[in-house]
Amino acid sequence: MKTIGLIGGMSWESSSEYYRLVNELVRERVGGLSSARCVLYSVDFAEVEAMQSEGRWDEAGRLLADVARSLESAGADFLVLCTNTMHKVASAIEDAVAVPLLHLGDTTARAVLAEGVTKVGLLGTAFTMEQSFYRDRLSSHGLEVIVPEAEDRELIHRVIYEELCLGIVREESRAAYQGVVDRLVERGAEGVILGCTEIELLLRQEDVAVPAFPTTRLHSEAAVAAALASTAG
Ligand code: GLU
Repeated sequence: MKTIGLIGGMSWESSSEYYRLVNELVRERVGGLSSARCVLYSVDFAEVEAMQSEGRWDEAGRLLADVARSLESAGADFLVLCTNTMHKVASAIEDAVAVPLLHLGDTTARAVLAEGVTKVGLLGTAFTMEQSFYRDRLSSHGLEVIVPEAEDRELIHRVIYEELCLGIVREESRAAYQGVVDRLVERGAEGVILGCTEIELLLRQEDVAVPAFPTTRLHSEAAVAAALASTAG
């Protein structure tokens, strides 16, 4: 089994889900007492959030490149960046290490296409919904990506940072998110990407009328598939 290097802490509320999922999935696939071989480096999210909101992306890239080097030194065979947003600095991470980064945009796009969905709604932080780094990665697989209107984007973003990253899950916010998804479906979305690793703590498949793509679960599944792909080690 290969060793998974988890770049986590953004926020730890979702990193703990990654940790649980990779272990559960290895147990399901291998059986017995088997669990995931992994190394988790969890950053201080307050530092990262300040870099995001102040536009200090180069600094954030250097920070996560250092984390990636630490994980590589600790024995990681490949890396999993446990946040959609910070894929904005994916290339800084890739340039810093010899081991591969399992890009969440690619994992997500493949899952969407496998469901036969070609026009998909994207929920995430304002960075993920409004900037091109994530949408372009999805589009490069042939997907048409639509995002909520401005007011809805603001709501989605606020709930992520003021509630979900703090471990707060509110019924009112779930209902508000459902409204946003309904409006995306009215505009032609055939599915919805839960493109922030905390959103699946709030919104589940049964809450929406179209296929939902939970990025934490999809990424964890891809990580376990990659870890078990070779018997080496
Ligand atoms: N975990 C979130 C994501 O997947 C947001 C937190 C962050 O900005 O990293 O985008």
